[in-house]
Amino acid sequence: MKQITILSGKGGVGKSSITASLAIALLKHKKIICADCDVDASNLALVFGMEPKDYGEWKNITTNKKARVDLSKCTSCKKCVEACYFNAIEWDSKKNIPVFKEFGCEGCGACELICPSGAIELYDVENAKIGYGETKYGFTVVSGQLEMGESGSGKVVSAVKELAKKKAGDSDVMLVDSAAGIGCPVIASITGSDYVIGVCEPTPSGFADLKRALLVVGHFNIPYGIIINKYDINEEYLKKIEEFAKEKGAKVLAKIPYDKSFTDALVNLVPVVVFNPKFEALFDKIASKLSCEGII
Ligand code: SF4
Ligand code: SF4
Repeated sequence: MKQITILSGKGGVGKSSITASLAIALLKHKKIICADCDVDASNLALVFGMEPKDYGEWKNITTNKKARVDLSKCTSCKKCVEACYFNAIEWDSKKNIPVFKEFGCEGCGACELICPSGAIELYDVENAKIGYGETKYGFTVVSGQLEMGESGSGKVVSAVKELAKKKAGDSDVMLVDSAAGIGCPVIASITGSDYVIGVCEPTPSGFADLKRALLVVGHFNIPYGIIINKYDINEEYLKKIEEFAKEKGAKVLAKIPYDKSFTDALVNLVPVVVFNPKFEALFDKIASKLSCEGII
């Protein structure tokens, strides 16, 4: 099974819309499965019009640990307060004990290491969930959600991809909808990819963020192509992106014009190729370019 990851340097450039329509285009010739790895703001399932009833049971997972103290062992030495880089331990002067603030704890373990009386232990927290459901288009979407304010999104992404591999059956392609940016969830998304598609808009920030994201992809020696969304809103930056692609030997897989159908499709919870069939040819062409390149 080939893994194609779709990412963007910044959010809001149409990555999930494009992933959804590409999925529909690929479906004409391939068996696919989608992994929604934008675990801090997953919305791919929504673009396919999936509802909670389309999902089976969600599985709780843990991505992090938190520290807790056994006050019966504490000798009030205050060393843990000094050791906590995240200021997650306060000192209660009246009671002469440390107070652990669960929300601020990053689970780094420094306090556990430094405590001379073994009063501190780290425990697993269930702060994320993963699950899968069937779209009305005949394929599975695997999703993950990290609780608000929690850390460890990269681990959730890895868990989503693992589940997607288990559920893939005889799928030919796994489409991974990555988070935007260059952080941990993006690195976890592109890990193991056969090909990456960078989605961008021709704007100064769109271009700068795309370059940063593709620098990370290049670091892992993964081949990539580019889709320029709303290519007709800024000719100067369109040219810059095309020159950049040429310089890097990357294919511009598509130039998509600005079209209100993208927003209307989202409002109607369908991929844009379903909402407005005039886009079918464009996405078919992307699929055929991927095939010609030997990616799928
Ligand atoms: S585990 Fe790390 S972040 Fe959490 S309380 Fe201990 S030192 Fe602070
Ligand atoms: S380091 Fe251990 S013994 Fe010292 S105050 Fe913290 S919990 Fe208590």
